[in-house]
This record gives sequence, C-alpha cells and structure tokens, in this order.
Amino acid sequence: MSQRGFRGNRYLTEEEKAAKPKVTKELLFRIAGYLKPYAKQMILVLLLIAFSSMLSLYPSIITGRIIDEGLIKQDMGMLIKLILLSLFVTIGAQLINVLQSYLNSWIAQHITFDMRNQMFKHLQSMSHRFFTTNNQGDIITRMTSDISGVQSIMTNTLVSILSNSITLVTALAAMFQKNALLAVIGIIIVPLFTLPTKAVGKTRWEITNEAQQCHDEINGILNETLSVSGQLLVKLFNKEEREYHRYESINRKMVQLNIKESMAGRWFRLVLSTFATIGPMLIYLVGGILMMKYDSSLTVGDITVLVALLGKMYQPVNSLLNFSVDWIRSMSLFQRIFDYFDMEVEIKNCDHPVILDDVQGSIEFKDVCFHYNPDRQILKNINFTLSPGKSIAIVGPSGSGKSTIINLIPRIYDVISGEVLFDGVDVRKLDLSFLRDQIGLVSQETYLFNGTIKENLLYANEKATDDMIIEACKKANIHDFISKQPEGYNTMVGNRGLKLSGGEKQRLSIARVLLKDPTILIFDEATSSLDSISEDLIQSAIDPLISSKTSIIIAHRLSTVLAADEILVLKEGQIVERGQHQQLVELNGTYTELYETQFKRALEKIEMKSEETMI
Ligand code: ATP
Repeated sequence: MSQRGFRGNRYLTEEEKAAKPKVTKELLFRIAGYLKPYAKQMILVLLLIAFSSMLSLYPSIITGRIIDEGLIKQDMGMLIKLILLSLFVTIGAQLINVLQSYLNSWIAQHITFDMRNQMFKHLQSMSHRFFTTNNQGDIITRMTSDISGVQSIMTNTLVSILSNSITLVTALAAMFQKNALLAVIGIIIVPLFTLPTKAVGKTRWEITNEAQQCHDEINGILNETLSVSGQLLVKLFNKEEREYHRYESINRKMVQLNIKESMAGRWFRLVLSTFATIGPMLIYLVGGILMMKYDSSLTVGDITVLVALLGKMYQPVNSLLNFSVDWIRSMSLFQRIFDYFDMEVEIKNCDHPVILDDVQGSIEFKDVCFHYNPDRQILKNINFTLSPGKSIAIVGPSGSGKSTIINLIPRIYDVISGEVLFDGVDVRKLDLSFLRDQIGLVSQETYLFNGTIKENLLYANEKATDDMIIEACKKANIHDFISKQPEGYNTMVGNRGLKLSGGEKQRLSIARVLLKDPTILIFDEATSSLDSISEDLIQSAIDPLISSKTSIIIAHRLSTVLAADEILVLKEGQIVERGQHQQLVELNGTYTELYETQFKRALEKIEMKSEETMI
C-alpha cells in the first residue's frame, strides 16, 4: 500500500478488504514492542495532546462570558481581561502543540529508524534465492513506502484519534453543562453531516484510485524509457516520438483526473458547509424560543458558546467515523512488514560454526545433488576434488549446471544432498564469513558500484594501499588503461560501471578479487565475445592466476582449459568426462564436440593473429 493511499482515502479497496489482517493479541504485542523503548516519551505526548485539546476548546467557552459579562454588561475591564485570557490560552495551546508535534515526530522517526535498520539487516541476510524470486520493486516498497506508512500512523492516525476523542468528549460535556436540550438538538444534526462525507468520499476515492493507476503507469513509462538500457532501445529503434505520445496521453489523463478530484472536493466542501450551518441555526432558533418564552436564565453568551462548541465537533466526529479504515490499514501495514521479518533466513551459520586455523584450500564435492525446484534436478551426483594449488576447468553446454556448481562453494545455495567440503569440513559447518573470506568469485555479470575505480577496488579490501591497488591492477592488465584516464584511479565508472567496456569491467573485477587475496579463486569466464585484444589482456591476466592459485574456472576459452590441471565436462547436470585436454579429445565425446564448435575456433583465431604479428 502506498503512503499516498494511506493518507487520502476513506474506503478500503477490494484488495485491502480481502487482505484484512487478523488482529491478534500477538500482533498488538509485537507492535507494542516497537513502542516500548519510547514509552516515557509517548506518555508525555499523550498528556500534552489531552491538555492542548482541552485548552483549544477554552476560547469557545470563554466567548459566552465575553458576550454576557463584557459586551452586554458593557464592562470594558472584564472585556479586556477575558480577551487577554482567551489569547493567552490560545497561545498556550499552540505552544503545547508545537512541543507535542516535535516529540511526536521524534518518536515516529525513531520507531521507523529502528524498523528500517532491522529490515535492512534482515534483507541483507536473506538468501540469493529470495532476491531471484521476489520482485525488486516489492522489496524496495517494504523498505520505503510501507515503513513510511508506519511513520504516518504514528504521527497522524494515533494523534488524530486521541485528540479528536478528547475534543469530542470535552465539547459534549461542556455543551450538556450549558444546556442539555440545546446540546441534544445540536447533536441531532451530526449524523446527517456524515452522509455527504460518505457519498462524496466514495466518488473521490474512485478518482484517486484511477489517479493512482495513472501514476503507476507514468512511473512504469519513466522507468522503462529513462533507464540506461531503455533509453538505448528507444534510440536504436527510433521510438522517441511514440514514447513521447504515450507519455503525453497518460500525463493528460492525470491532469483531468486531478482537476476532477479537486472539483469533487469543492462540491464536498459546499455540501458540508451547508450542513454545518443547519446545526447552529437550530440552536439559535430553539435557544431563542427558550430564552424569549420559557427560560430566562439562558443568555446570548450561552447560545454562542453552544454554537461554537458544536462547530468544534464536526471534524472530530468525521475523523472518528473513519477510524476503522485507518485501523485496518495500519494493521495490514504492520502485518506486511512483519511478514517480511518472519521470512526464514535460508543460508545462515549453524549453531557452532567452525573457523579453521590452518587453511589449505582444498575443495571436495561428494555425491552432490541439487535442484532449484523439486520438479527439475539440476546437478546429479557430482564428485570431484580440488587439491590446494591445483586448478580445475569446468566446461559444458549452456544450462548444464556449471554456474550452479560454483554457487554451492560460497553457499549462495546449499546442496540438497551430498556434501561440499572445504579442507575436509562441510561448508555448512563453517562460519559463513570465514568461508566467504576464503573465496574470490569473478562472475560473468561484473557488478560495479557507481563510484570511482578506486572506491570499487577498495570494496574488496578497505585497507589496501595505493601500491597494493596498482600491483593488483597491473596483474589484471588494467593499470595502463586506468593510468590513461584523465582522472586516473579517481575516474567514475558510471551507473553499474556502464562507462566501461565489458572487457575493462572484467579486468577491474579481476583486480578487485586479487585485492581480496582469497585462498580459492573462482572464475566464470564471460561468454560474450570480446575482441581479441581484450581477450588477450584478460587471458594473460588469468593464466598466471590459474597456475599460482587454487582455482575453479568455468572455461569458455581454450587457453584457460589448457592451463587447468583437470577438466570436468558437464552435461545435463552430470560429469560425463574428466581428464586433460589430449585425453578428452581422444574420447571423441562431449568434450570433442565442444572443442570442435567452441575452442577450436578460438584457437584458429589466436593462430591467425600470431601469423599476422609475424608478418
Ligand atoms: P551458462 O553456460 O549458460 O551460464 P550454466 O551451465 O552455468 O549455463 P546454470 O546457470 O548452472 O547453467 O543453470 C543450470 C540450469 O538451472 C539452467 O537450466 C537454468 O535454467 C536453471 N537455473 C539457474 N538458476 C536458476 C534459478 N535461480 N532458479 C531456477 N532455475 C535456475
């Protein structure tokens, strides 16, 4: 639910009605848990609200004395005294209001601060599966709008319920104390007053709903067309005009809806003010008859006070009538947030996680089976051992499960059966941070933050010195490129690194992993075709790494395959062949097929290039 929806609308949507949360004792206690640290401040706010609500009625009550004792009796001293009293009380009530608002928003901000931090921490601990399954927009909505909605409940809903109830009770008591009959007559009109509120409110809600859909559509268009890749698509297909018209027409609809909404508000106010005048008229009429014919003790001042108090009752009544809508919305907002908090953290430390003192860096897969969904097995009985200092290349057709294998090592996912061992210990028994510290993964999708090259490199090791950075970049063959940039290592990489080419990004991410200096290097070679120069630069960065570090490489290039100590050939989730290049070629199986289609072509390209160089 958006904050916009929360603030404005007086009716629940069908969706909201269907998802009405069950308000249980547990839910209320859980909410109270967030308020508890601020209990003292909350009590103070409640007292301040009660005090200022009562004080704000005082000027209306005093009006009667101003008229009777000041104006009618023509007592100037009393008149000035009462006016000053009324003024001071009003100023006092306003000052208390300021203090109350400050305290109130302080509490609301602190509660949402706690919730946001808790949510961020929780989301960070969620597994990769959570992020691949859930809509990114939904996740962001929980963090932003939903929690802002909670803030709005604290600052607006609770305060309004409390202050309106106190105002209403005090006004009622004061009216009855003045004259019970007139009080009853005045109040008769109150239910009538709610009718137009409901009718006009409904129309308004429908318009707002439509406007909300328009708003979402506009956001969708903006997201699609003003994002980096969207904008590129628009340009390449020459769709600027089409996109402009699409935007213009929805924007126009929005304008019409906004005008309609404000006019519905205008009629609403007109009907309201008409009804609002009927109550006072009745009091004047009946009060006048009483005063003139039956009850000489009733004064002009009394009638004025009754009218003034009645005027103060309309808004609180209206607000309180809508209390149930606000209540349901508040509860479902909390429920939505709690639903996220209750999602189990899939990949976490076991009860007594192990940290190894003497790290060798061996990996063993023992009968590993894995699936993302039970109806489709992805890995079947995978067995292999990677000894310290050695390297393994995994090759296989697209979709055969290569990336899935490497994801099981740093526990991006956990095995379904079998074991992945690091130095002989099941990775699920190792401390998660310790395990991930040992592993450096360069994936195909190189992710860079929008910052400078240096900032991106320091992400791997905050303590790295400039010399260490330069050394890593030299090894990754990216130092020369960086040095040629006007800003050098302080060059901005752009949104997700989009100012850099695919090859540059990959070399930068190799340098980043080198700075991390992991025990085991996992490298997922990019399948995207890079030009031969970029390829060479990457290759000459990787080859020495493969021979110097314990590594697993998902290989797409022959030289990588040749540099590895063992090659695993994967097909449909199974290791179908294993060995060294020459042995595998002689088998004339899956590897030979891959060699003929993929690697040989790359080899021919390299040979052609070296011939060109010789010429
Ligand atoms: P490529 O060489 O194209 O990168 P790959 O051999 O690395 O392929 P994987 O990425 O391991 O293959 O995927 C193996 C299978 O698992 C694929 O069929 C893919 O559709 C499926 N798969 C991958 N990730 C997920 C996921 N998060 N949820 C469900 N299925 C997935």
